[in-house]
Amino acid sequence: MTITKPTELGAALAQLDGTGARPRAGGTDLTACLAAGVVEPAPVVDLTGVDDLRGVAWAGDGSARVGALTRVAELSTDPRLADAYPALAMTAAALATPQVRGTATVGGNLLQRNRCWYLRNPAFDCFQTGGDSCPARSGDHLYGVVVDQGPCAAPHPSSLAVALLAYGASVQVAGQRERDVPVAALYDGTDPTRDHVLDPREVLVAVELPVPSPGERASYLRATGRSRAEWPLVEAAVRLVCASDGAGPVVSASVAVGGVARTPLLLPGVAEALVDAVPGSAPDEGVDAALAELADLCDPLPATGYKVDLLSATVRAAVEQALGCAL
Ligand SMILES: Cc1cc2nc3c(=O)[nH]c(=O)nc-3n(C[C@H](O)[C@H](O)[C@H](O)COP(=O)(O)OP(=O)(O)OC[C@H]3O[C@@H](n4cnc5c(N)ncnc54)[C@H](O)[C@@H]3O)c2cc1C
Ligand code: SF4
Repeated sequence: MTITKPTELGAALAQLDGTGARPRAGGTDLTACLAAGVVEPAPVVDLTGVDDLRGVAWAGDGSARVGALTRVAELSTDPRLADAYPALAMTAAALATPQVRGTATVGGNLLQRNRCWYLRNPAFDCFQTGGDSCPARSGDHLYGVVVDQGPCAAPHPSSLAVALLAYGASVQVAGQRERDVPVAALYDGTDPTRDHVLDPREVLVAVELPVPSPGERASYLRATGRSRAEWPLVEAAVRLVCASDGAGPVVSASVAVGGVARTPLLLPGVAEALVDAVPGSAPDEGVDAALAELADLCDPLPATGYKVDLLSATVRAAVEQALGCAL
């Protein structure tokens, strides 16, 4: 396997263009994908020599631009980032293991491949590997989607995408044309052939976050099949912007979930119902109704019906934690 390590973004893009090469950041997923045949054997362009992809820059308005090579661990250990974007910091601290968080990067996390065991077993072909079917649908899909958006049934694996969706963040992409892509548009649940919309010749340069909201209360919770080193069955990130520096009623809210669909999802109905909720008090019947309506979003596969209740229970627990009224 050929590995090159450019030091300039332009050189990295040139080495990716038309060569079939793959970009590598922390390598925690790409290495496994190459070993398991998820991606064809290909030259690797190691991005870690490109200093322009590193670091956090703060704009005059207080918003942050987080370089793609920023380690996942830094999102929670950098005090200014954690203070400005608490739901993102909580999500980063909860995912994977300390070893993975210390190696994995923000860009690699957003662009990692899904965890479907058919995809990761070279004995199977499927839509994602050039085939024309989804063996998981007729086979074992216990960890599959419950909100069915298209032919592939594997939930999106990126926890950071859930939190970044809750913040309305976007990513800066370099390639044949430079573009900004909202995190909400970085994934297409109807396309069964890939897990994100970037071309392999493109490089995710940075994540752009909005101006932080003073008085934000936040939470991140996940339901898992084992206590650590596992992707969640369902995960939820909640942001509540409250009056009186966090002590007063909710002024605006944002709720995003993962583990349930091909893409991370916003739950606007739950968010709207949370406006005027009072920190320290249990959510009212409007929130109860919005949580009950989540079942209408669901279209479970034969083995994923358990996620219908798990979705509303996980969101409820995350909401209660953000309000500070959890038992
Ligand atoms: C035990 C375990 C548990 C885990 N649990 C979770 C979890 O709960 N939630 C979660 O989100 N993740 C989880 N992970 C996955 C882990 O977070 C990812 O493997 C990691 O974030 C990938 O980052 P990386 O920098 O190593 O990416 P790499 O492996 O280097 O790359 C991943 C993919 O992104 C592409 N890529 C990387 N950087 C760029 C870039 N800047 N521009 C364009 N393409 C790029 C690569 O080509 C590759 O396809 C877990 C992993 C393990 C091992
Ligand atoms: S199409 Fe998706 S769910 Fe089906 S086998 Fe492939 S990765 Fe798994």
